[in-house]
Amino acid sequence: MSGYWTQWQTVPMSNTTIDDALNPAEAEAFRAEVREFLEKNASGIGRRSETSIQIGKTYQAALAEAGLAGLVYGKEHGGAGKTRAHDRIYREEYGKYPDMTFELTISHGMCLPMLNQFGTEEQKRQFMPDNIAARTMWCQMFSEPGAGSDVASLQTKAELDGDEWVLNGQKVWTTLAHVSDYGIVIARTNPDAPKHAGISMFIIDMKAPGVEIRPIHQIDGGSHFNEIFLTDVRTPKSWLLGELNNGWNQATAMLMFERVAIGTGSSSGVTHNLADRLIDVAKNNGKLSDPVIRQELMKLYCEETCKSLVSMRTRAEMKAGKVPGPGGSLGKLHGAVIARFSRPLINRLVGADCDAWEGEGRGENWARYILSSFQSNIAGGTDEIQRNIIGDRVLGLPREPMVDKNMPFKDLKVGTIRS
Ligand SMILES: Cc1cc2nc3c(=O)[nH]c(=O)nc-3n(C[C@H](O)[C@H](O)[C@H](O)COP(=O)(O)OP(=O)(O)OC[C@H]3O[C@@H](n4cnc5c(N)ncnc54)[C@H](O)[C@@H]3O)c2cc1C
Repeated sequence: MSGYWTQWQTVPMSNTTIDDALNPAEAEAFRAEVREFLEKNASGIGRRSETSIQIGKTYQAALAEAGLAGLVYGKEHGGAGKTRAHDRIYREEYGKYPDMTFELTISHGMCLPMLNQFGTEEQKRQFMPDNIAARTMWCQMFSEPGAGSDVASLQTKAELDGDEWVLNGQKVWTTLAHVSDYGIVIARTNPDAPKHAGISMFIIDMKAPGVEIRPIHQIDGGSHFNEIFLTDVRTPKSWLLGELNNGWNQATAMLMFERVAIGTGSSSGVTHNLADRLIDVAKNNGKLSDPVIRQELMKLYCEETCKSLVSMRTRAEMKAGKVPGPGGSLGKLHGAVIARFSRPLINRLVGADCDAWEGEGRGENWARYILSSFQSNIAGGTDEIQRNIIGDRVLGLPREPMVDKNMPFKDLKVGTIRS
């Protein structure tokens, strides 16, 4: 196993409380507190929209006010300083409501654990409290026009100039960059090293001079991700996240946090939300007695149940105090497989209404769901890449050959490099 894969798998989660002991009375008292909060504050969101960001922020602010935000993070870093058992109880109760915080997935599911895991004490105190309470939004800048699946081929560079890093390059597909305050970016800091070895990770201010954000318009009518052009963007030397030239290990860790966040969602326990919603549609459309529809719904129900169980195992592994391993890819891939399987079923159930995706048409939400569901096969690493990871890291199959592993990056012709 090569070094850059093995190192991060066993890194203990710093500053998280892993003591799981909660006696039944404590657990019940906490569950009652969470239920009371959710009854008052969890109104839910119909579908993704511009207001869903504001709704998520408002909900998160209320959560922070109630002392229930960032449950497993230390109080000194803006968290609640509670245990993983509290977190599990919260997720179980939260899972009974429509998710209000999916717009915070990148901030909380990816950037926050990275700050906690790799940030200096100063960075944690500076950034984590506002992140946890959603006073700030964060984005992830990895992908480039010539570096997606093979993100280690990235060409954005960072050079030290006195007390500041100067970044130049282009990023793409950056979700929610247009509403983000900060971003975690990876850039090349040593072109003489092999491509995986000369990368570092930085925090940048998304409002800094030289950061140009251009929206990308999506097939479903939305505009949630962006192209980003970085021209002489200056970021303080102290905003290097983690170690210099250790960016690949950290990027891999962040991708695993991402796959867990995408694959397991915000809730815990066994859920089958899509099947439940489609069963309602079948009832309303008089199709529940159709044997083929019933069979497909049952398959979907089983797939969602299995995915929940895999997610619970992944979360249990994280509970043991580790950055999630390649098993995180299982949940992520499973979600993508469910999306692919559900598309023709939705079309059959909702029928012609599904074509109405503007205005108040009954099928609008489903049409948007179908169109946006294609992203689940790509975002956070494509299905093929998840299969590669599962193949060589989970099943122990032979790795893909890597001809450029030991060559200096500057001698490679990768991505958009033409000469
Ligand atoms: C909705 C959405 C949101 C996103 N948000 C972000 C974000 O916030 N930040 C960010 O940095 N990026 C983001 N991305 C980018 C995403 O990570 C990349 O699109 C993804 O990693 C694939 O890279 P690519 O698009 O360059 O495709 P490519 O890497 O060019 O892949 C093209 C095709 O080749 C296949 N392929 C490539 N390599 C292999 C291989 N070794 N084995 C088998 N098949 C292979 C792929 O599976 C794919 O089918 C987002 C993408 C989407 C769709």
